[in-house]
Amino acid sequence: MSTVLQTNHFKNEATITPLPIHTIGVIGAGQMGTGIAHVCAQNNYQVQIIDTNPNQLNKVLTAIGLNLDRQIKKNIIKQDQKESILEKIKIHSQLNSLSKCDLVIEAATENPEVKSKILKEVCSILPEHSIIATNTSSISITKLAAVTQRPEKFIGMHFMNPVPIMQLIEVIRGLGTDEKTFITITHVAEKLGKTLAIAEDFPGFIVNRILLPMINEAVYTLHEGVGSVESIDTAMKLGTNQPMGPLELADFIGLDTCLSIMKVLYEGLADSKYRPCPLLVKYVEAGWLGRKTKKGFYDYSTDRPTPTK
Ligand code: NAD
Repeated sequence: MSTVLQTNHFKNEATITPLPIHTIGVIGAGQMGTGIAHVCAQNNYQVQIIDTNPNQLNKVLTAIGLNLDRQIKKNIIKQDQKESILEKIKIHSQLNSLSKCDLVIEAATENPEVKSKILKEVCSILPEHSIIATNTSSISITKLAAVTQRPEKFIGMHFMNPVPIMQLIEVIRGLGTDEKTFITITHVAEKLGKTLAIAEDFPGFIVNRILLPMINEAVYTLHEGVGSVESIDTAMKLGTNQPMGPLELADFIGLDTCLSIMKVLYEGLADSKYRPCPLLVKYVEAGWLGRKTKKGFYDYSTDRPTPTK
């Protein structure tokens, strides 16, 4: 069962019927889109996933299959469920394959121009009743909603990585999001077995407003030579009881995504304390994006990740 925080946001729930959702479209088959497709199919939604990069699409079903195998080993699902979950997921390369979706969750690259272009285009394909959610980590929901021509049916649905494991979804309403959209998304999130936290539409929302400045500070700590990669991660893991050190976590999130979020915080809050660390910028320029490129603060080309510096 999921839990919902801040229950005062549900004052109209009794009078508003959520939109029935049968088919969910997922845009972007990267680490988040893959995880979102997995949990949606596992919870009996039909899923259509699209990506413009054929390499990403080719990996989706294998990656979900491997994660389902892990869930079988842990007794979370039964062996005979695996095939039926995979059968619910259809992969495509074109946005117009989403024309029958009741809900689309956009999980493409964290870049306002990329997202705006996708959102404009998908609006002309979707039926009128359909809701669009974005999994953006930091970009203004109100700003993205403005390009859609259906701001009342647009909302932020911020899943955490890895989606099948992490309990939380942050839900963020834009200025124009209506109550039916909000109630529908809370019902979907509940069906996915997640816990909700409701955030207002400010840069980084709650999780990344707090998490990313810590990661950015860890990169400054490395940049200034206060500690090595290993000593920074060990200090924060054992000293503050976190399951992962901040540099390891940055590699896991993706350094390009971390940099984009820091830029949104820096520009959106106009405060120099959010200035992205130059070392983070340099790693992204080098194409060292973390686990997804097998190189970031650690090198992942061998069994045991080793620091790159
Ligand atoms: P990723 O780089 O792994 O995947 C992004 C995918 O989007 C890629 O496969 C890319 O080919 C695809 N894409 C780019 N342009 C596209 C287009 N026009 N149409 C269709 N697909 C397109 O990134 P990710 O980590 O999966 O992040 C995706 C979104 O989720 C971002 O908004 C990010 O901020 C957010 N998010 C990320 C994390 C995290 O920990 N990585 C956590 C929560 C939310």
